[in-house]
Amino acid sequence: MVVNLTTLPDSVVPGDVGYDDAAQVLFAKGSPALVVRPSSRAEVADAVLHARRRGLEIAVRSGGHGLLGHGTSDGGLVLDLGRLDAVNVLDMERRLVRIGGGATWGQVDQVLRPLGWAISSGDTAGVGVGGLTLGGGFGWLLREHGLAIDNLVAARVVLADGTLVTASRTQHPELFWALRGGGGNFGVVVDFDFVAAAVATVHFGEITYRPFEETDLLAGWRDAMRAASAQVTSSVLLMPAPGGGEPIAMVRVCVADGDADAADRAIEPFLALGQVTRATIEERLYGDLLEAGGTPPPGVRMVGRNTLVRELDDATLDAVHRFRRSSPSVAVVLRSLGGAFGEVACDATAFAHREAEAMILGMTMVPQPDLTGQEDAIVTSWAEVAAHGSGIYLNFQSSQTPADLAAAYPPATFARLVAVKREYDPENVFARNHNIAP
Ligand SMILES: Cc1cc2nc3c(=O)[nH]c(=O)nc-3n(C[C@H](O)[C@H](O)[C@H](O)COP(=O)(O)OP(=O)(O)OC[C@H]3O[C@@H](n4cnc5c(N)ncnc54)[C@H](O)[C@@H]3O)c2cc1C
Repeated sequence: MVVNLTTLPDSVVPGDVGYDDAAQVLFAKGSPALVVRPSSRAEVADAVLHARRRGLEIAVRSGGHGLLGHGTSDGGLVLDLGRLDAVNVLDMERRLVRIGGGATWGQVDQVLRPLGWAISSGDTAGVGVGGLTLGGGFGWLLREHGLAIDNLVAARVVLADGTLVTASRTQHPELFWALRGGGGNFGVVVDFDFVAAAVATVHFGEITYRPFEETDLLAGWRDAMRAASAQVTSSVLLMPAPGGGEPIAMVRVCVADGDADAADRAIEPFLALGQVTRATIEERLYGDLLEAGGTPPPGVRMVGRNTLVRELDDATLDAVHRFRRSSPSVAVVLRSLGGAFGEVACDATAFAHREAEAMILGMTMVPQPDLTGQEDAIVTSWAEVAAHGSGIYLNFQSSQTPADLAAAYPPATFARLVAVKREYDPENVFARNHNIAP
């Protein structure tokens, strides 16, 4: 039976009121044939089957923050999961929480904060639980509680044939493995079950330095992190100063739990990294760390590259320094890894790079179209940093090439992902993503 457009719930097509808003995500405008906003798992299945019958490409949207704009499309069907945003506690004792595939981390926090709980996730409230989790999920609790996927215990997935399955360690275990890092390749996740951690408040330090010797600062931060306990997760950010001039350097340190004295002791080494111009150290509700996140100005695109390094040695830091100096508009962030993140076996999840010491990100905004060739210049100078890496995190990569896939998935991981794809989505219905072809 052919499903009519009109039988689909809450859908908008070109010309409808609200179409322009419904068509766009953070980094893309889009011109889909229709946008569907299902309110139930059954409606998700209907929309998937409808798209297949009509030969429409499916774009799955959770929080709409994907760097490649995959949450919309030109001419396809957008499955906007925004109505599947319920956050329900299933078991108070186990802190088991079921979260709809279209919820944002800000919505999750609204339910968890009164309980004094948190789920290790990202740093921005508007990012979707769907996209962040399926890629891995790096945030402020990473060294104490691992990636978001390390706290996931089950997911319900609408497959390409419209059936609903539960994936967990005991049910569809290969699918469950693949969902933890393999992206949106295998189906539409309608809800996720996480075990939350008992984290109400954290101690959070934000320290800026100027003037500074860049490589000394980075090396000092690395050494401080090597000596830090797993309760400490940190990043160092080098960003262009507004109006030009020397870049701004900022270290952020999150100490999960711990009393105030212990937190002060943990943060102290970071205060000795250079000439401090401003430092705030406060006990904050975990959810208050989540940034609102801005909307990029119209007509610009974010260029993001990252690499995961096994050892943050001096040669790597020199390469970071040269990259940072290659353009006045680039920002660089180093995020600490290790701790609980590194205790998970490399083959336990489809995200495999557990031995990495740090993630290095390079990013900038470029005009669209980029007539100045700024993107090419940045990508070229990034290659020197990337040469020191052993992998990448696809959620922070704004490119989509075979080389990106190869860097994200070691050969054995990739072969296993292809096998799961062949079993669960042999016709590649879910292709608008960092695609693993069956
Ligand atoms: C401002 C900003 C801050 C960020 N901060 C962090 C951070 O701290 N840590 C971190 O790890 N990442 C971070 N990211 C990266 C983020 O994880 C990715 O951009 C992610 O893809 C966004 O997910 P989304 O659901 O918001 O995006 P969408 O664009 O809605 O989804 C991205 C893709 O994920 C897939 N997908 C999403 N939901 C589902 C679902 N329910 N079922 C099946 N497939 C689905 C689809 O393929 C979709 O195209 C950040 C990104 C931005 C823009």
